[in-house]
Amino acid sequence: MPNVRRLARRIGEAKVITDLAQRVLYRYDAITSGEIPLVVVLAEDREDVVETMRFAHAEGLPVFVRGGASGLSGGAVPTAEGVVLATNRMTRLSIDPDRKLAVAGPGVVTAAVSEAARRYGLYYPPDPASYQMSTIGGNLAENAGGPQCFKKGVTGDYVLEVEVVSATGEVLRLGRASHDLAGLLIGSEGTLAVFTEAVLRLEPVPRYVRTLSATFPTVEDAAAAAFEAIRQGVVPAKLEFMDQGCLQAVEAAFGYGLDVEAGAMLLVDTDGDELEVVEEELEIVAEAFAAHRGRVKRAKSPQEAARLWQARRGISPALGRIRPLKLNEDIAVPRSKLVEVVHRIRDLGEAAGFPLVQFGHIGDGNLHPNILYGPEDDVGRVHELAHEIARVALSVGGVITGEHGVGLMKRAFMPEAVDPETLEAMLALKRRWDSAGLVNPGKLL
Ligand SMILES: Cc1cc2nc3c(=O)[nH]c(=O)nc-3n(C[C@H](O)[C@H](O)[C@H](O)COP(=O)(O)OP(=O)(O)OC[C@H]3O[C@@H](n4cnc5c(N)ncnc54)[C@H](O)[C@@H]3O)c2cc1C
Repeated sequence: MPNVRRLARRIGEAKVITDLAQRVLYRYDAITSGEIPLVVVLAEDREDVVETMRFAHAEGLPVFVRGGASGLSGGAVPTAEGVVLATNRMTRLSIDPDRKLAVAGPGVVTAAVSEAARRYGLYYPPDPASYQMSTIGGNLAENAGGPQCFKKGVTGDYVLEVEVVSATGEVLRLGRASHDLAGLLIGSEGTLAVFTEAVLRLEPVPRYVRTLSATFPTVEDAAAAAFEAIRQGVVPAKLEFMDQGCLQAVEAAFGYGLDVEAGAMLLVDTDGDELEVVEEELEIVAEAFAAHRGRVKRAKSPQEAARLWQARRGISPALGRIRPLKLNEDIAVPRSKLVEVVHRIRDLGEAAGFPLVQFGHIGDGNLHPNILYGPEDDVGRVHELAHEIARVALSVGGVITGEHGVGLMKRAFMPEAVDPETLEAMLALKRRWDSAGLVNPGKLL
């Protein structure tokens, strides 16, 4: 029996949960569940993480790091009886306006960085749609993206330095110069080390933002319109796609007045510091959309724009009203293949007999087909359909995950997605960082 009491004495009784009713809650993330952990540690600072990693290493227990548990690939769920190390109480955050930096603990909720920076006219661009619940630790582990990432880049593009605690409890500070070891850990899905702090780059808040929406008779029109705007040199701050199923679901749930007869909708922001340029870019987008049968509506006020983006964020909750469960797939494909992929996936959903809707960050070719199902459905068939969707992405030169990670859900797809040499290189790295195989085992590799 592991000596949990000794750990509790070292870091404080209140931070160590052994009560079954509470431990059960730590089986879950946003998409799936795993084993009930033996013990849950609510870390408050780096020393708690160090002690926990040393304890787990000495006892030979697996450790599953957990942030906001908003993950959609099962990354934080325990695959064996072990320790859940929750970093969501590590919420220290400071802003250095002169150097345009934020120093954030891993438990800082993503949205809080921009909230704190805004009073200095700064913000943190990576914006996963889950930004009000995900944490910086989870974002680093998944290299999270979001609607703004087409123009602004993903989490890793804003990280200057990280502090991590290794599998055996050593503390390392890693920067981005020469050997980019920080970059190696960003996106490693909690399988190599624990993030305990990050130095993040901030940007000035753009002075102007303009928003428009457009509905199209077909997905082909929407895709052609989006690519036409990009071809003309516009890089929208956001460029989001929703299919008809999404429009119908959001409208039925929240009544935003969306056109439910449309085949697809695009939602666009342009931004910058020169009003003329921002408006000119929006005009180019509007013309490109209109040329492809788009019914374009410019948001006339920030409130109207906010309402449109609320509709976009309403997709996930709205889908829960159609079927109680969903598997949120996440692939990225070359933009030129997007229409083909949307159609092939829609056909797969119809053949399998599951309602399936699709939305995504179309500028990046990042698509989220969501399979909707219920407790009475055969989960095995849902997972088979997810695997088929991943194969569609691979067949057109895409990848099996754009931003949610491989985690538990897509681990079985890895041999099809990655060549044996690359897989072996990844395994060698894992062995180097975690020779005992105790850090988030059963994920990714
Ligand atoms: C409605 C909704 C919308 C979403 N939209 C997006 C989106 O637009 N873009 C996007 O990229 N993702 C999106 N996601 C997925 C999810 O929010 C992201 O993957 C996010 O980065 C996870 O953060 P988290 O703090 O919740 O991490 P968790 O779910 O707790 O963990 C995720 C992974 O990170 C690891 N981890 C967590 N903290 C640490 C740490 N301190 N050190 C090392 N590893 C750690 C865990 O072990 C796990 O492998 C969405 C999810 C939901 C529910």
